Amino acid sequence: MSYRFKDYDQQQNWLFPPSIEDFIAKDHPVRIVNNVIEQINIDSLIQAYRVTGKPGYHPKMMLKVMVYAYMDNIYSSRKIEKAMRENINFMWLANRQVADHNTIARFRSEKLRSAFKDVFKQVVLLLAQEGLVSLKQVYTDGTKIESVAGRYTFVWGNAIKTNKKKMAEQLEQMWDYAQRIAEDEDKDPEPPDFKQLDPEKVKATAQKINKILKGNDKASSKAKAKGRYIAQHFPKNLEAYQQKESILGERNSYSKTDPDATFMRMKEDHMLNGQLKPGYNVQISSENQFVVNYTLHQQANDLHTLAPHLEQFTKLYQSYPEELIADAGYGSQENYELLEHNKVKAFVKYGSFDKEQAKVKTKKRKGVKPFERDQLYYNPEKDTYTCPMGQTMKNIGTRSRRTKSGYLQQYSVYQAQNCQGCPLRGSCHKAKTNRQIERNHQLEEYRKKTRELLCSEAGKQRLKRRTADVEPVFAHIKSNRNFKRFTHRGLEKVDLEFGLHALAHNIKKMSA
Ligand code: SF4
Repeated sequence: MSYRFKDYDQQQNWLFPPSIEDFIAKDHPVRIVNNVIEQINIDSLIQAYRVTGKPGYHPKMMLKVMVYAYMDNIYSSRKIEKAMRENINFMWLANRQVADHNTIARFRSEKLRSAFKDVFKQVVLLLAQEGLVSLKQVYTDGTKIESVAGRYTFVWGNAIKTNKKKMAEQLEQMWDYAQRIAEDEDKDPEPPDFKQLDPEKVKATAQKINKILKGNDKASSKAKAKGRYIAQHFPKNLEAYQQKESILGERNSYSKTDPDATFMRMKEDHMLNGQLKPGYNVQISSENQFVVNYTLHQQANDLHTLAPHLEQFTKLYQSYPEELIADAGYGSQENYELLEHNKVKAFVKYGSFDKEQAKVKTKKRKGVKPFERDQLYYNPEKDTYTCPMGQTMKNIGTRSRRTKSGYLQQYSVYQAQNCQGCPLRGSCHKAKTNRQIERNHQLEEYRKKTRELLCSEAGKQRLKRRTADVEPVFAHIKSNRNFKRFTHRGLEKVDLEFGLHALAHNIKKMSA
């Protein structure tokens, strides 16, 4: 019996050798990458190259390879080099050229960095030309992505403040002690300012203290040792704290190994211990699940990210979107004002919107709570409230508050005339004085407009769509593409890294 197999001879030559082109399917995503990059203008990228020296790989080829690598979940420059050598899709894209990993890393971190936003914009404009996005209705949301830095590399702003306070207290105690035991000629009637410490002043103060203590029989050896310790350590510690504070800026934390990263609470806590991790707040605007804008921020709260995010949108497309849909994390007076000022329809919930709507439903069953501020009758002509006992609450002035971003909010204050002996007092308020309530009329006005908009048919439709537009983009990038942690350090580099993911996401979606 003889076995039968197909001919297998590795030495046999081809009469008509096939081209790599023959192995790439007509509808393969690599062809979409090729088509898209072929259509955009890469002048800004070319400008990042020098005109002299050894010819480099063509930036168009490198860009295609880089984008396709991100689409294929290959992020390391060594792995991209390997793919260029072994993967037929990369071989086709690069026309069988193979760049080494250093060249790939340099292209990504040096050449592409300055031109990337322009490349991203052009691809989004291509999507707009194809009718896939309009750039008029955008869904905005944010997520936190962990930095590559270790979780135990933290520097806390509060710890620095506490240490500086302790240093000031110890220095003041030592100063007082030295002054008490000082000879008359060494006494200094003008004590230094212990509230504003700086290394030079601390050095001078420590020298004065040690001069008094040295050779003074009344000074204990413990005090002398402490004086020496202060002179030796306090000025340099203070210098280190000042340096750390300049890195912190407005933040309360940063990572020693990635100073741009801030410690934040992550949704995906793989350690399941609720600890803060170093990371970045990534904001995106999407339309039809395409990313049309993205920005990276160092603060965990979404409230103050909207202004810079929209600023970049206008920088890219020279106009604001007509509508912006976002969750309650963005519903502040400052943001409503910003959107109204720029004629953007704000489908943006405010913090208490869902609670309010739930109350509207339960009111019918459980009844109204008459003592709540929102239930009191307001007379706009007289600018007065009426309390549950029928007393007029007059406007007694305004209070101003500044938000973290420096935005000034004005609150009108209203007070009841006499709560003494009121039978409802126990249920109404617990203050010792007559009841006071505060009202931010401007914010209430924005909330009223937002409520009307969100309760309209268009509003309900936008809110429903929000969960099916922007949220799946994050789910796709983080879960399907397994991008849960940056691989680069520093704001600029992680901005580019996320941008490549966003671009790869858009092109992959085009090919879907
Ligand atoms: S306690 Fe004062 S504010 Fe409250 S119902 Fe009585 S009078 Fe009005």
